[in-house]
Amino acid sequence: GVENLVIIGSGPAGYTAAIYAARANLKPVVFEGYQVGGVPGGQLMTTTEVENFPGFPDGITGPDLMDKMRKQAERWGAELHQEDVEFIDVKNRPFVIRSSDREVKSHSVIIATGATAKRLRLPREEEFWSRGISACAICDGASPLYKGQVLAVVGGGDTATEEAIYLTKYACHVHLLVRRDQLRASKAMQDRVLNNPNITVHFNTEAVDVVGNTKGQMSGIQLRRIDTGEEKVLEVKGLFYGIGHTPNSQLLQGQIELDSSGYILVDEGTAKTSVDGVFAAGDVQDHEWRQAVTAAGSGCIAALSVERYLVSNDLLVEFHQACS
Ligand SMILES: Cc1cc2nc3c(=O)[nH]c(=O)nc-3n(C[C@H](O)[C@H](O)[C@H](O)COP(=O)(O)OP(=O)(O)OC[C@H]3O[C@@H](n4cnc5c(N)ncnc54)[C@H](O)[C@@H]3O)c2cc1C
Repeated sequence: GVENLVIIGSGPAGYTAAIYAARANLKPVVFEGYQVGGVPGGQLMTTTEVENFPGFPDGITGPDLMDKMRKQAERWGAELHQEDVEFIDVKNRPFVIRSSDREVKSHSVIIATGATAKRLRLPREEEFWSRGISACAICDGASPLYKGQVLAVVGGGDTATEEAIYLTKYACHVHLLVRRDQLRASKAMQDRVLNNPNITVHFNTEAVDVVGNTKGQMSGIQLRRIDTGEEKVLEVKGLFYGIGHTPNSQLLQGQIELDSSGYILVDEGTAKTSVDGVFAAGDVQDHEWRQAVTAAGSGCIAALSVERYLVSNDLLVEFHQACS
């Protein structure tokens, strides 16, 4: 048979799409992923407290939040498979989606495969991940760990400069570590950073590792000057990565339109991709906002769009309810 909808991805976008589609009785098949492009549950599985998702006034851990979304999707009848999709054909109809364990034909697809925050792969990165090292200033800046402290941001583009400026709300001082001898950010952002007395920009500088104190807390960063090779320790309590994200869109290469960085292109304000019947939601199509709640919102839009698409193209496979 041919399914109504296959959803690829199990972050906030994928599970929200699954909840809406399941409640619309589409019986969606969800590939939650296994190891390609992150773990089942997505990026929030790698963090501790989530303090900005509405509905949790005391915060909730990333894994708890994702477990609740998964259960909600399951409760309404989404069929969940913890498998990576390895191949997809959206050039022919019905679409074909193949994982390690099965092949499914479907009238529509929602791509919610997310993105992966780039890491520096410092030797002690794992040890201090979420305990000094963060990939998201907006998410973690207000944490008591960082309030009133000296912090550092790595990167020279718009993300890094925005993070540095954002962090000045909480930090007493911010160091911006830039590998090159100039910033890549827009002129306006460069001016804002260079003229901010609470930000020091270090050019030609790379982070080599993180340094801890005897209590196991992060106490600084080992820096190296790229031009002279000189090394020193900069005392900071937090290190924020602003070095970009990689969208998990490799599966779609050559099949739907992507931008030059690999993000899926959608019609503005919709989930529509360049192929009719293929929709995209979450970080895989969003290089700008990248929040759990915006990913969830776009997952909702994608699922409602699928229902409209199936009905208007007379493709909907109805699961009829017998009279009770
Ligand atoms: C450390 C960290 C902390 C963060 N903290 C916050 C926060 O406090 N608040 C906030 O709002 N946002 C936070 N974010 C951002 C937030 O996590 C993302 O915006 C959000 O998770 C994006 O959701 P998504 O559904 O688009 O994709 P993701 O969460 O990236 O999930 C993608 C999913 O797709 C799956 N997948 C990928 N490829 C395949 C494949 N081939 N087959 C099958 N499945 C596949 C993956 O397994 C994964 O389940 C944080 C991010 C990070 C990295």
